[in-house]
Amino acid sequence: MHDLLLDAASRAIRYLEGLDGRPVSPTAADIAGMSSLAGSLADDPTDPGEVLALLDTAGSPATIACAGRRYFGFVTGGSLPAALAANWLAGAWDQNAAMRVSSPVGAKLEEIALGWMVDLLGLPAGTGAGFVTGATMANFAGLAAARHRVLAAAGCDVEADGLIGAPPIRIVVGDEAHASLLKALGMLGLGRSRVERVAVDGQGRMLPDALPPLDDRTILCLQAGNVNTGASDPFLPLIEAARRAGAWVHVDGAFGLWAAASPAQADQVEGVGAADSWATDAHKWLNVPYDSGLVFVRNPADLEAPFSAEASYLIQEAPREPMRFTPESSRRARGVEVWAALASLGRRGVADLVAGCCRHARRFAEGLSDAGYEILNQIALNQVLVAFGDDARTDEVVAAVQAEGTCWAGWTTWQGRRAMRISVSSWATTDEDVERSIEAIIGVAGT
Ligand SMILES: *Cc1c(COP(=O)(O)O)cnc(C)c1O
Repeated sequence: MHDLLLDAASRAIRYLEGLDGRPVSPTAADIAGMSSLAGSLADDPTDPGEVLALLDTAGSPATIACAGRRYFGFVTGGSLPAALAANWLAGAWDQNAAMRVSSPVGAKLEEIALGWMVDLLGLPAGTGAGFVTGATMANFAGLAAARHRVLAAAGCDVEADGLIGAPPIRIVVGDEAHASLLKALGMLGLGRSRVERVAVDGQGRMLPDALPPLDDRTILCLQAGNVNTGASDPFLPLIEAARRAGAWVHVDGAFGLWAAASPAQADQVEGVGAADSWATDAHKWLNVPYDSGLVFVRNPADLEAPFSAEASYLIQEAPREPMRFTPESSRRARGVEVWAALASLGRRGVADLVAGCCRHARRFAEGLSDAGYEILNQIALNQVLVAFGDDARTDEVVAAVQAEGTCWAGWTTWQGRRAMRISVSSWATTDEDVERSIEAIIGVAGT
């Protein structure tokens, strides 16, 4: 074990140190090289050192260099040094974070990290949380809490009796709601298409004047950080309207919720703390390794209702038994990396991480706009949408930039137009990386 783990560590370090010198996407040869991982399963065991060597030789080149400094695809954070190191240690611990009795340290770190985040993100004191796989499951969990509360208020025990025969409830979403929110609604039996959609502006923000009358059988789903533009819904008037009507407010803040932790960006999400539930990711802007998402619920009992389960052999200790707040039972101890990331950054480090990515995004917009290309969004946070001409030309440039390999950005369609979507989400990206990437994009687009 000793030599094997040292070998793994030195291979991992070599991998990370090599990222700057390789194209962000694997080459065709790297992809083809994965064939040596296949073949039929051997009858006899193979030496673990050989297994690791094969994994590194054939697997490492076929990765996307999203742990590096110039990956701007989707909304993808890297891994902070402390978070990655904690992840390695936690791998050795192999804790089952379901219960305090199965992992005292897992339960404790979740509790501490929860307290820190409630403070950092400006959430109400006493807010509860579940440590889940990502924002999709965080949306699922937050909406399960909402479903519980809204139906309980209508005299219905949805966990016991199900939705069949329950009074109808309304779901109101912005026209730019993220696909994962609709997927979560589908998984909860609330329907992907049964939603009432509210019109949005040119940045994807819900128009308060377009909000239908709400009532106490309604779940209003808002968004902090549109996945294309980075813009957030105007929380103050929207949540105020929901409060007056007694509606539940859920916020999908996969990355945008972290704006609250940076004084320079906090105005983008002003008032978000007045909601009832919030979904976010730690593997995006907090830069912990995959996978890591968080659901927060103002009243922890509403989160506990759908996810607690009783069995004679389960030990449920006060005050916070981790598995009572997540869809999962057995799971890895995600609180370890979240704790380590926050402990290493401190309040200022989190703010600087968020502000730094936003500064890089503004520079991308400025550099590409100066070169004559069209920026389709206002740079609210860390997202930049660029058109290089008509849709076909934009698609062509994005593909060519990806193939050139200095950096990687994806495609999107924003309100009918094709665009390159640049998302700056990694702690590791430097000013120099941004300049190099702008130069590479302009070089490709100019030919
Ligand atoms: C990324 C994202 C999600 C989904 O997050 P996963 O971590 O992929 O599950 C949901 N909503 C928004 C706004 C996002 O940006």
